[in-house]
Amino acid sequence: SEVAPSQSSPTGSPTVREIDSLLLRIRSLEAQIEEGEQRAAAQKEKRRAPMLYEREEVGYAFSSGQLTPLEEPAAPAQHFSNVITTPLTTSGETIGEIQVNLPAEHTWTIEETNLANAIAQQASLQIQNLRLLAAAERARAEAQDANREFTRQNWEAFMDGIRNHEQIGYIYDQNSVAPFAQTAPAQPDIQENISILGQNIGSLFLTADPTRPLTHTDKEMITSVARQISQQVENLRLLAEASRARANAEEATRRLSRQNWQSYLDQKETTTGFAYDLTKVTAYKETQALQDIALEQPLMVRGEAIGQITVAGLKTISPEELELANDIIEQVNINIENLRLAEQTQSALTVTENLYAASRAITDTHNEIETMKALVKYIDRTGIDRIVAAIKTSNSPVTAQVVAIWDRDGRESQFLGNHFTDKQIPLILQMGLTQATLINDFDNAPHIDPVTQKTFKMLGVTSAAILPISTSSELLGWVFLETTSKPKKFTTESVQPYINLSGQAATIIQSLRLLNQAQKHANQIETVATVSTAASTALDPNELLQSVVNLTKERFNLYHTHIYLTDESWNTLFLAAGAGEIGRQMVMTGNAIPINAEKSLVARASRERTAMIVNDVRTEPDFLPNPYLPDTRSEMAVPMISSDKVIGVFDVQADTTGYFSQEDANIYTTLALQVAVALQNARLYQDQSATVAQLRELDRLKSSFLANMSHELRTPLNSILGFADVMLEELDGPLTDNMQNDLGLIYKNGQHLLHLINDVLDMAKIESGKMNLNIEKFNLQEIIEEVTSITAPLASEKNLALYIEPDSDHEVEINADKIRLRQVMINLINNSIKFTEKGNISIHVAREENNVLISVKDTGLGIPVNLLESVFQEFTQVDTSTTRKVGGTGLGLPISRRLIQMHGGSLWAESSGVEGEGAIFYVFLPIEAKINEE
Ligand code: ADP
Repeated sequence: SEVAPSQSSPTGSPTVREIDSLLLRIRSLEAQIEEGEQRAAAQKEKRRAPMLYEREEVGYAFSSGQLTPLEEPAAPAQHFSNVITTPLTTSGETIGEIQVNLPAEHTWTIEETNLANAIAQQASLQIQNLRLLAAAERARAEAQDANREFTRQNWEAFMDGIRNHEQIGYIYDQNSVAPFAQTAPAQPDIQENISILGQNIGSLFLTADPTRPLTHTDKEMITSVARQISQQVENLRLLAEASRARANAEEATRRLSRQNWQSYLDQKETTTGFAYDLTKVTAYKETQALQDIALEQPLMVRGEAIGQITVAGLKTISPEELELANDIIEQVNINIENLRLAEQTQSALTVTENLYAASRAITDTHNEIETMKALVKYIDRTGIDRIVAAIKTSNSPVTAQVVAIWDRDGRESQFLGNHFTDKQIPLILQMGLTQATLINDFDNAPHIDPVTQKTFKMLGVTSAAILPISTSSELLGWVFLETTSKPKKFTTESVQPYINLSGQAATIIQSLRLLNQAQKHANQIETVATVSTAASTALDPNELLQSVVNLTKERFNLYHTHIYLTDESWNTLFLAAGAGEIGRQMVMTGNAIPINAEKSLVARASRERTAMIVNDVRTEPDFLPNPYLPDTRSEMAVPMISSDKVIGVFDVQADTTGYFSQEDANIYTTLALQVAVALQNARLYQDQSATVAQLRELDRLKSSFLANMSHELRTPLNSILGFADVMLEELDGPLTDNMQNDLGLIYKNGQHLLHLINDVLDMAKIESGKMNLNIEKFNLQEIIEEVTSITAPLASEKNLALYIEPDSDHEVEINADKIRLRQVMINLINNSIKFTEKGNISIHVAREENNVLISVKDTGLGIPVNLLESVFQEFTQVDTSTTRKVGGTGLGLPISRRLIQMHGGSLWAESSGVEGEGAIFYVFLPIEAKINEE
């Protein structure tokens, strides 16, 4: 390059401007590393995180006031004869060189050499700073990205990962968890999205047990589970991000020299000053007076003044000195900026890692207070004096209770458990679900209402950040980060992680609440089941009511329970049962409420047929305190409805306010309904058992009356028949034809009456339990033969064949009442003869193991299929006109069946009901009669 004519400085030595040509060459770090073996380790580090500046090999030439990039930075400028070369070094490593070329005739002075060296040093430092700045900036950006919950881009990337690489699913069937390949089950009962920041990343499918449909609470629980899964996925991702950011930041911090960092850390808490008097650096005290101030320059970082450099002890300052001083100041600024960046990176990382730990700790909690304590524990306390977490306990007025607290001065107990309302801190009414309110100075907070300000000032708070604890739809409480001494400048950015954390706490609290609710519900259902079981097993209405009130009081932990019953005729509700001794006394005293009593809760429940709740009896103007129950605070009256009638009112009382919820009303309504039904049943049972007893007695009276009457009737009838017989035989003298005929009618009707009386007597005997069997062993064939011979004349009169089937078993010996069996057989055969006009009547006997089956078959009228059973009922005849012709009482078959049943056997008929096909009557008897006396 050409060398421009030199300009002389006033002092005669060359200044920066006098250097005509400056060759700045930065050697490639890569190349250099390949050369140096002892830096192999360092090289490895650098390869892992290559930086823009490290890769670049750049060179610039400054000549004739112009800066031009060197085409080939490595090419040595050998054609210069008068050259001074100084290395550019950072942390002892040579990263490049500066060549200064002067005209050949120029001789280098010591000062000039020193100056060149100083310039090289400055350039080195500047390069190093720029590199550090870039590294720190990048690490910080990454850490912040990770820290910020899910920025869209990050999330996109994560989503891409899921989309491109894998889709995972698991199935749980109450036994085990297994991988699940399908995308979705065929017909899930519930599908819940698992989403993060509104982005759907998966689904939760649930198929319910078909025998147990899902309730509203179940569904809420499932939504909450899906939310928790979302959060867990988010946490895991946060952890991954945090570890990555940590690796990056560690890389960046390594680049900052240890010493610098340490000294900065040691001093950073206080305002620091240093004085340099050309010999040594000392701590600067404000009291130290500075004389002859030549220069005062602010130290600026990103446009913000963070300190000042003063050059003193000089009357004047030369432009060169001024320029040098400015360079130094800039240097200092850059260095401080770097240190600050490094510190920020570090704290961003700590926050991220803390957040993960916090999130886990919060997820692990099992009740609201634990959750809030974990939240308070994990909030960064730097510069903060007090952290207060409060849960909203009521909506009107908005009230909150302090449930967790940390206080730098140990004043936790002073605040714990305290309540505050929107009257003291109206600000809480203004707060939304997602935004924090920051008050950086309570002495100057025009955006905050005066009442809130006053309250905080009273508490000694100087600055505060108020964060909402909320789910996506509900505000559950607040966290207050407060200072009580030096105010802290809160930023939206610095509190954002804790808003997120509070959101997690809110989700956990909400799911804990749901779980509690579900458990409480399950317990209540169980209690309802216990009480109603007890109720349904009691047969006495009074016992039933007493056990219901006692059990309900005990199981639901109530102050008192009692039941009023409706008395319709008096239009009142009277006290029927009360729990415990007090209840008994009240029932004895007798307590009645008119159904139309305006103020009575019990009467209102009865009138409006729905549960009535008073949650603070003291605020209820109409409430009439009961002297027996002085501690009642909440009361609920539930109507007991059975078959659409209010049969009473179930009244429950608690000694705390706000005890009964709508949910409880549903539970108690169910209980009251079941008690009502049980009570109705018990009453019916009582009525019925009285009726049954009465009927039984009546029946017994009737039978014994008949048994006696039949006997009384038989005696005169026998004498009528006897005398008629004597006269018909003409033992009392000859009869005319007319007399003969009339007497014949008397005799025939008398016989019929006798039959009737005998049958009635038999039936009455059986029914009044006076019929006794006389069991003996005999050959069945004998009886069958005897019966056929007795009935044979009747059969032959009608030209009917009557016979015993040839394949009948003749050997059967049975144990039975011979007379009664004969009576049954005669009856069956007689019937067959009566209802058959032509054909035959056959009898068959067959042994079946320890039983015998006797059948009587005819070819007569038959019996309509629908009447096959009715003919065994007393006085039932298929066709009264036929029987009028053939005679009969309608008692033969019922008596026969009862007699066979008394032997432990059975009697039935089979018939197609077609005339001519006849009927078959079967007698089934055990060989050994199993006497079955009624
Ligand atoms: P009854 O004295 O009228 O015969 P039963 O109790 O012996 O009284 O019979 C009741 C009715 O059953 C008879 O009136 C008749 O209608 C019907 N019945 C009984 N046996 C026969 C049969 N073998 N064939 C058709 N109908 C019969």
